[in-house]
Parts: sequence; C-alpha cells; structure tokens
Amino acid sequence: MATTFEPDLISCATCGVEATTPLPAVCPICADERQWVPASGQAWTTQADLAARSVVTVGQVDERQWSVTASDVGIGQTMQVIRTADGVVLWDPIGLVDRGAVGFIESLGPVIAVVASHPHMYGAQVAWSRALDDAPVLISRPDAGWVQRRDERLVEIEGAHRLAEDAEIVTLGGHFAGSLVLHWTSGADGRGVLLAGDTIMANPDRSSVSFMRSYPNRIPLSGSTVERMLATLGERSYSRLWSNFANAITEDADRVVAASAARHIGWVTGAFDDAT
Ligand SMILES: [Zn+2]
Ligand SMILES: [Zn+2]
Repeated sequence: MATTFEPDLISCATCGVEATTPLPAVCPICADERQWVPASGQAWTTQADLAARSVVTVGQVDERQWSVTASDVGIGQTMQVIRTADGVVLWDPIGLVDRGAVGFIESLGPVIAVVASHPHMYGAQVAWSRALDDAPVLISRPDAGWVQRRDERLVEIEGAHRLAEDAEIVTLGGHFAGSLVLHWTSGADGRGVLLAGDTIMANPDRSSVSFMRSYPNRIPLSGSTVERMLATLGERSYSRLWSNFANAITEDADRVVAASAARHIGWVTGAFDDAT
C-alpha cells in the first residue's frame, strides 16, 4: 500500500486534480467540453483513499529519465521525471503523492520545477511541491484560471521559458490556450526529447501524432492552429516524443510531428475529401 503526506487533501475522483474546500458542485475541469463527468455523477476522493488502493510504480525510461504511475488514480497519466543539467523536473504530476516515489526523486538531486502540460494533468502538483522542498510549480499563464488549489508555490510562466541549460518549456496552445511542451536537448543521449502531454498526442501506430481540442470527446483543432503550433515549435530538434500515457514516438519524432501536422491540415481543410 502506498503512503502519502496530506491524507485529507481532496481531489476530483475522475481527473485526479487536487482541490480545496468549499468544493464546487462539479469539478470545472471535468465539466468542460474537453473532459467528462461520469454518469454516476461528481465524486471526490482523498490522498488517504487513493493511497489505500493504488499501486505506485517507478520505472527507468532512459538515461536520466524515469516514469511514475499510480494505478486507479485520475485518468491514469504517467509522470515523467527528468534530470536536467540544472536539476530534476517533474512533468505532468500524478494525483497521488507517494512517499516511496518522493524518496526516489529526492535521491536524484534537487527538484527545480513541477510542471503540468495543461490543466488535465495538474494532478496533485502543489502536494508534490510541498513534499519536495517547495519546488516551484510552474503554471502557464493563459490557463491559470483552471487551477483548483491556489498556493504561494505557483509561478506563472508565458511564451518560451528557459528551465535549465538543456531544457526549455514552450507554450504551443491548441488543446488549451496555454498548453505546454518541454524540450530537453540532452535527453535521449543528446538526440533530444519532447515531453508533449496531450499538446501533441502520440498515436497507437507509434508513427504519427494528433492535435485535438478534446481527445475523449473528439473535437479537432483547426488547420491554422496546428500551423501556428508548428511555427512556435520552430527548428527545435528532438528524436523522442512522450505523451500522457507513456505512449511515445521513439525515432525521428520531430519529422513525425511535421508530417502529422501536414496530414491534419490536409484533412481539416478538405484536401483529402475525395477519399471520403
Ligand atoms: Zn475533475
Ligand atoms: Zn488534456
């Protein structure tokens, strides 16, 4: 059984995002058109309840990169933990803070940031910060209104934000107005890694990606938005891309993203209508 630090902390049972009292009638993140409230209605849970039923797993992904998952918590995201040149970064923090995982992360060195790609992935971000020496929790300014647990540890960022000598956070927007990616140039043996959340979603075929306003409710983004996202990403080079659920593009990811963007733009602008 997992053990945790703030047993009474409440979070949404569906999305796993931490909340504070007085609780709203429905979690605003789940009530939004990009997510969903279960047919059984809104439910809340606590860190103690989650810890009692969840199994937390830490795995090594690559050199200086680890994944942390918690079974039966929120939508089941994978937290990526990377050790940059200037310290450790937690990306897309899971909704349960586990003492064992905290001990492991502490052994990697000081944590310089806890950061979620977008509000669906906020998880227990403030609780992770509190467990890890009050590391700053970076919030993309356009999405700041979605934060359900306000805290002095939150730091708003905008545009391109240099995190470490070898790591930069870039605001691409799209899925959320402030959706982020993290470009880690020294990752994958120096070939470069993009942590993409669902700003850019690696597909099951492992050779293409998608760009959507909502994945569960299947709302597409426009061609011009995808074009703008690619332009913002610019010439940054990366061979691997990781999305929310440990789904990844493991080779030539920057070329895969460019080709998938061209395909997406073709479909939404009618270039392939003769095939429908
Ligand atoms: Zn929720
Ligand atoms: Zn999302």
